[in-house]
Amino acid sequence: MFDCHYDLLTYILMKKNEVELIKEHCRKVYRKDNITGGIFNLFYMSPAEMRAELGIEEDQINLIENLKEVKQFIESNQLISSDIKYIFGIEGLDYLKNIEDLDILYSLGLRSTNPVWSNENKFGGGVKSDRNIGLTKLGKRLIEKLVQKGIAIDLSHANETTFWDIIYLCKKLKKRGENPIVFASHSNSKAICNVPRNLTDEQILAIKELEGVVGVVSIKKFCIDTEEICDTKIDFEQKYIDHINYIRDLLGGVDNISVATDDMRYYYIEPEYYQNLNVYMQYEVKEKLEKALINNDYSKKEIEQILFRNFEEKILKRLDKKTFRKSTHKSINYDIIIEHKEDVYEKENKNYFNSINHNNSFSNSNCSYNICFKLATDK
Ligand SMILES: [Zn+2]
Repeated sequence: MFDCHYDLLTYILMKKNEVELIKEHCRKVYRKDNITGGIFNLFYMSPAEMRAELGIEEDQINLIENLKEVKQFIESNQLISSDIKYIFGIEGLDYLKNIEDLDILYSLGLRSTNPVWSNENKFGGGVKSDRNIGLTKLGKRLIEKLVQKGIAIDLSHANETTFWDIIYLCKKLKKRGENPIVFASHSNSKAICNVPRNLTDEQILAIKELEGVVGVVSIKKFCIDTEEICDTKIDFEQKYIDHINYIRDLLGGVDNISVATDDMRYYYIEPEYYQNLNVYMQYEVKEKLEKALINNDYSKKEIEQILFRNFEEKILKRLDKKTFRKSTHKSINYDIIIEHKEDVYEKENKNYFNSINHNNSFSNSNCSYNICFKLATDK
């Protein structure tokens, strides 16, 4: 299964002193018979939330340093085995200092990004923005740069105005011969569960029109509009599958459906509550989801499409071919390999990295307590 959204990179930054814990987590989750690929995200809140909840000031956050650090952590600890395909993502570009920094982030493996998280930033508005703001001038420049670089644009979290601004701009760029890649990594249907983070029918149709996918997410609160996530009488699994059924019916097939866990359980603060955030435990998600889809009369081919093939076909294949290497694996056309060759940034930015104060990274594990509740309830 390909997991369209998991904040593994933030998890690493927050718990980097607990190497064995992270290794154990990855061993359990990333297996041939479970999750075999994913978008690993760094996730950022608004500056006010970063300050209030983590005690981290805006000028202490450095996307390049953070991505470099987690990439090295993954490699030096051999965290992910070579048969697992992953790309890096950044959720919320509030701290992107210059649009040109995307060149460096790209060389570190960035292939997907949400221009906005739920708050408003300099690029546009999120679902919890105070104002109904769309893409700003800078936001338009950002989208053009993302399309030009071949970085997938993740529409989850954008408010409707920003969503549509991105769609219209991407359609324009497509007409000019460019190859915009848009998708919603972790959002469900608003028609079934009317929360701001879910998508209207029109939004889902627009993603299909641009050949993207919707990563239907197994977070309970996006499956059914209830606060009672611990209620054992609710069949959350079926409520989750209902979203897949609905989107299939809306789109006339499963070609644009993928799946995401966005599992937040690593924040562990109130175990009972957190154990119940998601429909599935990540280490057994593929087996259970497959069974549920079979019970809902999906064919073997459709299940394969939903679990991984659609994401490969619609997104991964269209990303810069330099990211991939040919695979001998019959059912998968490309292996995603985060480039291990000499990185461009090492040559170009030696002085830059030397000047970074490594103590300022977004990684203070003592801070993890406060972030937890907010993250898990806000996402
Ligand atoms: Zn999110």
